[in-house]
Amino acid sequence: MPLSANNPDRKSWLHVDKNSDFPIQNIPFGVFLTRDDIITIGTRIGDTAIDLGALHQLGYFEGIPLTDDIFLQDTLNDFIADGRKTWRLVRNRIAQIFDEENESLKGNLKHKETVLFRLDEIEMQLPVQIGDYTDFYSSIEHATNVGTMFRDPDNALLPNWLHIPVGYHGRSSSIIPSGIPVHRPQGQTLPAGATEPVFGPSKLVDFELEMAFITTDANDLGEPIPLEEAEEYIFGLVLFNDWSARDIQKWEYVPLGPFLAKSFASSISPWIVTLDALEPYRVESPKPIKKQLSYLQQKGKKSFDINLEVSIQPEKAKETIVSRSNFKHMYWSMAQQLTHHTINGCPINSGDMMGSGTISGPTPDSYGSMLELSWRGEKPVKLNNGTERKFIQDFDTVIMRGYCEKDGTRIGFGEVKTQLLPVFKPKKTNKPV
Ligand code: CA
Repeated sequence: MPLSANNPDRKSWLHVDKNSDFPIQNIPFGVFLTRDDIITIGTRIGDTAIDLGALHQLGYFEGIPLTDDIFLQDTLNDFIADGRKTWRLVRNRIAQIFDEENESLKGNLKHKETVLFRLDEIEMQLPVQIGDYTDFYSSIEHATNVGTMFRDPDNALLPNWLHIPVGYHGRSSSIIPSGIPVHRPQGQTLPAGATEPVFGPSKLVDFELEMAFITTDANDLGEPIPLEEAEEYIFGLVLFNDWSARDIQKWEYVPLGPFLAKSFASSISPWIVTLDALEPYRVESPKPIKKQLSYLQQKGKKSFDINLEVSIQPEKAKETIVSRSNFKHMYWSMAQQLTHHTINGCPINSGDMMGSGTISGPTPDSYGSMLELSWRGEKPVKLNNGTERKFIQDFDTVIMRGYCEKDGTRIGFGEVKTQLLPVFKPKKTNKPV
């Protein structure tokens, strides 16, 4: 099916700023609460949010096989489960409806009043109910930096790393949309030189610059997904800040890997940009350093050129960009990750989320975590307001942004913006003891 929604020459009758992440070629999907307190599935063009539930009720998706309530839901899971053919039909139709040449909705004031919202009239929600969340570790630069710091600079990569897209199963219950603050976690750490652990607030709270992809129902128990089919099951991507407590991580991660240092929170951008919208930005993955086993060998362009940046904004101060990276640096592609994930027959469901792992580039200004940017705290990062950061301080806000750009068309993800609050303190209550 042609991706007519991607036509770079199309213009919308809705206003779109020149540098907007959301031109008519993007058409992402999200879930929002409207000014009337109704939850609905929607899309966005420029700074206008579009209620797809209302559009469907008004008959604008006629001819596309959709259930009546497909967009009147508080998650995208059912729509995503409808599969790639339906996603494409719906995106193509939305592009038609908002094409500057099309008068059907443009000329209907009453319908426009029902369907269109300013961004300040809506509140973005988590777009999917995330059943399972897996986080990979697929940037060779990140894995090398961490291995150099914590183990051995001469053998920074563990022996399996060039053969396996290394990952672990995370918690989905603490994945939150942009705008929800996060408390500094408490836990066990082993102070330098000590032999016994102590309990208290993490002193080394960090971000991880990642992207995450969201899947549709892909396979039955026992059924592996071949690499050449894997992308059919990827609905789209979001920006992903995988909050990490480095001191808790260091003490707890042996031998089974990350646990409480990661599961206190991960933040995502609320608009899912479809894999279809990213088609024009395909690039080849880095060349494999070691021959990969045949089920992981890939041909063609399986990576995407997505510019990424991270800012830190201290309380009552302007933000400072502390890192600029790119998704194309990922050594293992999403297709390889999904193929490897299912090679043992593990089922993948609609609404599952897979994190890329920290996306560090080759240069020190492109590292994707404070652990690397400040090199364990040895090189503090200077902010515009004259202060320095080794890790994230209470009341700092971390902002991640991402976009693709080619031949004058820009497809972006918006942002994921999260403030770090001090350790959670229970409110005083009058409950009897
Ligand atoms: Ca991570």
